[in-house]
Amino acid sequence: MTPTPHIAVLGSANMDLVAYVTRAPRRGETVTGREFRTIPGGKGANQAVAAARAGATVSMIGAVGTDVFGARLRSTLEHSGVDTDLLRTVETPTGTAHIVVDDEGGNSIVVVPGANGTVKGLTPGDEALIASANALLLQLEIPAKGALAAARAARRHGVRTVLTPAPAQHLPDELLAATDLLLPNEHEAATLTGITDDPHAAARSLLSQVPEVVITLGSRGSLYAARGAEPVMVPAPRVTAVDTTGAGDTFAGTLAVALAEGRPVPDALTWASSAAALSVQRPGASASMPYRKEIDARAA
Ligand code: ADP
Repeated sequence: MTPTPHIAVLGSANMDLVAYVTRAPRRGETVTGREFRTIPGGKGANQAVAAARAGATVSMIGAVGTDVFGARLRSTLEHSGVDTDLLRTVETPTGTAHIVVDDEGGNSIVVVPGANGTVKGLTPGDEALIASANALLLQLEIPAKGALAAARAARRHGVRTVLTPAPAQHLPDELLAATDLLLPNEHEAATLTGITDDPHAAARSLLSQVPEVVITLGSRGSLYAARGAEPVMVPAPRVTAVDTTGAGDTFAGTLAVALAEGRPVPDALTWASSAAALSVQRPGASASMPYRKEIDARAA
């Protein structure tokens, strides 16, 4: 039996407030919506749930507000088995994403980081937790300062950092220097490199700054590249997608688990692809994330 890996996640927890409308309102206009849903999200929380369902012991570092959204996000994480001892409750409203989805599936989104914006550094407890983990998962819905502090702590303690550079943006050089595996989707890779139509070239360019890169390519799969090695392209299983929200977070969480278990990279990528393919066949973000047994059955 492989020992259960311990994954630390430092990142965002958001409540998605989703209104479904026939068409989005123009400026100054009011339209009547059809339905409203509150959906727990945030890339940090989503990756934590994915890794926990995939079988790891997971601890989430971040912040929520004292409001009902904060309480619900905490209980959603705990329900998935994520340890929330280091998820702070602060006097700033919980992060929210205000999403309007129209009948054509188009959306417009306003994100208010709220409590996530307070994650600017580490407490001694955060650092001790990162030091004890097998891998650290980071994304950028918290201040870059907080992500950098965590990546540097991981580097000091020999813990592998997997960074999802989302939302797409240019990254501080210091953050890339402290990253072991960079995990952008195609759009994020293009923002980082300026290369829009050639994932192999984008990966090669990123390897000048980080030792390992995985670019996810939606239904086309994923591309792994490392310094001094042949790139590995892993196709995605062919499935009928109903909702691809959270596919990248499912991929990140499960990939980190497989790598922390010491599996060879091609196996880890295949396993993460199986998990992500399962998630796109069901609605929701964290709600659609598969459990280890399902992933093993899909990957077999
Ligand atoms: P993000 O969700 O961050 O935009 P991608 O769209 O690249 O990221 O998806 C992440 C991974 O999820 C892909 O590499 C792939 O393995 C899987 N995936 C996404 N969409 C599909 C799909 N339609 N069919 C099968 N797998 C998919």
